Amino acid sequence: MSSKKDSSNSNFYKEPGPKLSAESPFESMMERFRFAADILKLDEGMFQYLASPVKQVIVSIPVVMDNGEIKVFEGYRVIHDNVLGPSKGGIRYAPDVNLDEVKALASWMTWKCAVVNVPFGGAKGGVRCNPKDLSKTELERLTRRYTAALLEVFGPDKDIPAPDMNTNEQVMAWIMDTYSMNAQRTETAVVTGKPIILGGSQGRKEATGRGVVTVTLAALNKMGIMPNKTKVAVQGFGNVGSVSAQLMYEQGAKIIAVSDISGGYYREEGLDIPKMIEYSQNNGYSLEGYENAQKISNDELLELECDVLIPAAKEDQINRENAHKIRAKIISEGANGPVTANADAILEQNGVMVIPDILANAGGVTVSYFEWVQDRQGYFWTEERVNRRLNRMMRNAFDNLYGVSEEYNITLRQAAYVYAINRVATTLKLRGIYA
Ligand code: GLU
Repeated sequence: MSSKKDSSNSNFYKEPGPKLSAESPFESMMERFRFAADILKLDEGMFQYLASPVKQVIVSIPVVMDNGEIKVFEGYRVIHDNVLGPSKGGIRYAPDVNLDEVKALASWMTWKCAVVNVPFGGAKGGVRCNPKDLSKTELERLTRRYTAALLEVFGPDKDIPAPDMNTNEQVMAWIMDTYSMNAQRTETAVVTGKPIILGGSQGRKEATGRGVVTVTLAALNKMGIMPNKTKVAVQGFGNVGSVSAQLMYEQGAKIIAVSDISGGYYREEGLDIPKMIEYSQNNGYSLEGYENAQKISNDELLELECDVLIPAAKEDQINRENAHKIRAKIISEGANGPVTANADAILEQNGVMVIPDILANAGGVTVSYFEWVQDRQGYFWTEERVNRRLNRMMRNAFDNLYGVSEEYNITLRQAAYVYAINRVATTLKLRGIYA
């Protein structure tokens, strides 16, 4: 564990340890951060402060497997910042998750919360495992032990986890229960993205996809394009991708392609999205074998001629290798970090408007904030109220960033970093440094 007060950590940005690849998620984040820091003329001390995570925890998670053997997994929780409020961010389970990725994702959470004006700092967690190889009971033991190892870190006023890649409502319920058993009281506000019956919020599950669509419609409006005249391609058919595809479909858009790990599915006249969602749900959440479409690769999907491309899978999908082949007018980043920093300039040169992740997918954390507020009040809102407030906050955030991008003549991504960093830095200056 290291902390900001650790002198060994104060210059970690200059000495990043193992050499990061030029396209590592953390380096991608830092590229954009440096650019915005220059515009804001951030002084060196403030730069160092905001570049360094508050806390980075690595834990070993021993689990008794169903066959009686012990297996040890590695888990992470990084709190990037808690200047605006308790830190907030999801937990992902994946075989390749690592500290560099979690660090990048934690800092994106800080900027994301600042962009939508939610009173949270940023954090992220992960466990290096392949959830597909684990039984439900193994997954439960892993989740409870990970939570137990981080009891000191988590808390409704300290650090509040949520779902991310390969974690879901059930995982959140186990975290909530483990924390509550140790606290000897039920503490629903310690996690968000819980089942509704356990204090979850209406609309939380769909919130990220709904937010993606709100800002995409706002961008189309700026370009004078009617949603029902658009062609849309969606990479990823999980929670974010499928909801984004469904809501764009409801707007009358033609969804010409979607994909999941089984590959891409293309139909020039538009896919039947409700049917594909049903098919996937009945097929172990896979589109494998879906017939009413032409099979294409994930790479081909990204390069299709379309109005809107929604990458909603994972990081580094659009990079310096393929950025010049992108033919979409708008990229709306449903995933975190799907475009690398190296690709930004190429897309800008080619006139592609990118709605950055820290805005486009902020609907999830916005409704997480609503869930936390509802839990603390013990008073629960209707879905209609949640969606109305979500749309308003996403729309305001889009308009704010659009204003900043015009004021400085910069891209929406650069505007998002300028806006967010300015907000956190201004708050930090007012609070001062505790000594
Ligand atoms: N994991 C989601 C994200 O990356 C949600 C985080 C949250 O709700 O705290 O934004």
